Amino acid sequence: MPSPEKIILSIAIPIPVDRLFDYLPPLNINAQNILPGVRVKVPFGKSFKIGILIELKNSSESPDDKLKRAEEILDASPLLLENDLKLLHWAHSYYHHPIGDVFISALPTALRKGKASQVRTTPYYALSPLGKEFDLSLFKNAHKQRALFEFISKHTGALSQTTISPHFKLWQSPLKALLKKDLIQLSTPIENAKTSQKQKPLTANAEQKIAIEHIIKNNHHFSVSLLDGVTGSGKTEVYLQSIQATLDKGQQVLVLLPEITLTPQLEARFNARFSTKIETFHSKHTETQRLHAWLNMQQKKSLILLGTRSALLTPCPNLGLIILDEEHDSSFKQQEGFRFSARDVAIVRAKMLNIPIILGSATPSFESLYNVKQKRYTRLVLSQRAGSATPPSLALLDIRNQYLQEGLSPTLIKMIKNTLAKKQQVLLFLNRRGFSPTLICHSCGWTAECKRCDANLVVHYQQQKLRCHHCSSEQFLIKNCPACQSEELKPLGLGTERVEYALNSLFPQKTVVRLDRDSTQKKGVLEEQLAAINAGQVDIILGTQMLAKGHHFPNVTLVALLDVDSGLFSIDFHAAERLAQLITQVAGRAGRENKKGHVIMQTRQPEHPLLNTLIHQGYSHFAQAALEERKEAELPPYTYQALLRATASNPQLAQDFLSEVSLIVNQQAFSTLLLGPVSAPMPKRAGQFRYQLLLQNKQRKALHHLLHSLIPKINKLKLARKVKWSLDVDPIDLY
Ligand code: ADP
Ligand code: ZN
Ligand code: ZN
Repeated sequence: MPSPEKIILSIAIPIPVDRLFDYLPPLNINAQNILPGVRVKVPFGKSFKIGILIELKNSSESPDDKLKRAEEILDASPLLLENDLKLLHWAHSYYHHPIGDVFISALPTALRKGKASQVRTTPYYALSPLGKEFDLSLFKNAHKQRALFEFISKHTGALSQTTISPHFKLWQSPLKALLKKDLIQLSTPIENAKTSQKQKPLTANAEQKIAIEHIIKNNHHFSVSLLDGVTGSGKTEVYLQSIQATLDKGQQVLVLLPEITLTPQLEARFNARFSTKIETFHSKHTETQRLHAWLNMQQKKSLILLGTRSALLTPCPNLGLIILDEEHDSSFKQQEGFRFSARDVAIVRAKMLNIPIILGSATPSFESLYNVKQKRYTRLVLSQRAGSATPPSLALLDIRNQYLQEGLSPTLIKMIKNTLAKKQQVLLFLNRRGFSPTLICHSCGWTAECKRCDANLVVHYQQQKLRCHHCSSEQFLIKNCPACQSEELKPLGLGTERVEYALNSLFPQKTVVRLDRDSTQKKGVLEEQLAAINAGQVDIILGTQMLAKGHHFPNVTLVALLDVDSGLFSIDFHAAERLAQLITQVAGRAGRENKKGHVIMQTRQPEHPLLNTLIHQGYSHFAQAALEERKEAELPPYTYQALLRATASNPQLAQDFLSEVSLIVNQQAFSTLLLGPVSAPMPKRAGQFRYQLLLQNKQRKALHHLLHSLIPKINKLKLARKVKWSLDVDPIDLY
């Protein structure tokens, strides 16, 4: 006979099955005292898994003799509190993703693996009295020591290893050397707070003032502010003063950024302003570093968390403000596994907690602009660059019939020369890495293609490789055509590596730095390059979209986009929005301080409406016009979409699976528009054939109602086990 006091633990386990699992409590513990939100180690299959306790129940659908006993409760008190659990429940029901995966994503890796939820104290370093008087030239050839010393001295107050390690590789021994020379000393963050001189807030200009006042006036309840400020308009100052008001109330602040590389910059600015410790959380930190940042927020020991998408779900029991910088950035959307939008979940989090959220961007997403139209968000505009900087001039450069030297037109080359002659820096943008995107045989027309994908292999000349950018395959760069044996293999098209060669031969006296995913793979390289750029040791900066994000290069006065045309033709309706944002963001790198900036876009489509609206009327006009088009075409944000993707090594299986799903949908949901099944824009990738089915509805509720009843039915299909399928709610890429 089961006693009425019988307690059953309902546990979320990270496996791709969307259900909870019931267990009996471990022996010898008082089950009455266990609370939801603790981690539980449970036997699962032949091994153990770590799950999260969701609920305590009195009965289970599983028969008593089938119930296993949990092995161990890992936490004395819940890691996830009531508000966290509520948010995760919402995310689970909105994204229709397996519950265990959703809940575990709130924990840092160390805790997912079962490590103890305790913080070790980290050492802090600051300049010693001797160090404060030290003459840098005395370092002579000790470059690493000098760099590290300069880094520490530039920070107001003490630095932890966590702050140092993303910037330097192999920093331990120079650090030891500096300690030994008594130039730096061990310190504590608290001492840091007391002793270091903090910067005073800047005097806000009129527009900043309106924004700050609005945010502070509304900072005791839910409100979404869209801080729509051109690049360099001083959005960060608005964040800083809004944060101060929240700190004054003793509350915590969560700041989300799209890119890891932007955290050091912002962290430095935060450290210069606030005396409280800044926690940072992103994937370049070690497991332990992330654990500590997470726990310090969870235990209210720290007030500010700065991080990327992965920091979003960190428990902050006393959260008072969320800021999402560069809110339009697609990296806020997780594109695999639990496909959530950090922006959208952050807004729901703010709403549940009844606190304000600020979305900042120079190029707001269409969704956010639409929400402003709907009066759900308040748009706060910073239309001018702050300080003395003026906006850059923008111009299209018609390159039809021009002789191009590896993509560089004579006019552009002249402009680069003029800029360099003035000792100013040039930034060149090309969104394609590698030497050339194609290798073609001049004799017979053969091209190097990936065997596993519908894609060309990219030539990587430096490494003498042919590489697929969509799967991991690579091979050596061949000298003879495999089809006709001729030696006439030619690289076709431009990549950053190729332009780098051209620049080096055109400007042999100048320093060129290439920034893309290939050149910055090694830890610390990007930071070193950015430091060299800012120290004026670089003349020409060449790179991919890595350059578009937030960087502040004060001496760059000429920005050129080498090939804007390649972005103009895409079948994805998001492409125009993405391109306009990219162009505007890259352009925003020009003339950020008192020197006038110029932006040149090389194009063979000088009449193209998108480019012309953007240049002559600006992003805002462009966005309004494009939103009208979306409305007429009944596309998001005027409608709601979910994309069901299926892949299989046998294309027929994937197609049949989606056909069966569309039959089910057609039987029950007349208001939902179905597009597909069709093959994905890249039909084959890594040996898998890819198909998709798009569901669209004018009502968000109706779409979710459908998904709720649809998913269990999909799970019952036999084919569901023969293909790999996933659901993407509010997809931002129809790839
Ligand atoms: P954004 O984040 O909008 O791109 P930043 O916050 O980086 O712009 O500001 C650009 C520059 O303008 C920074 O150097 C900043 O110190 C300066 N700045 C911002 N606000 C003011 C102000 N009110 N007065 C003077 N300078 C300012
Ligand atoms: Zn050939
Ligand atoms: Zn491939």
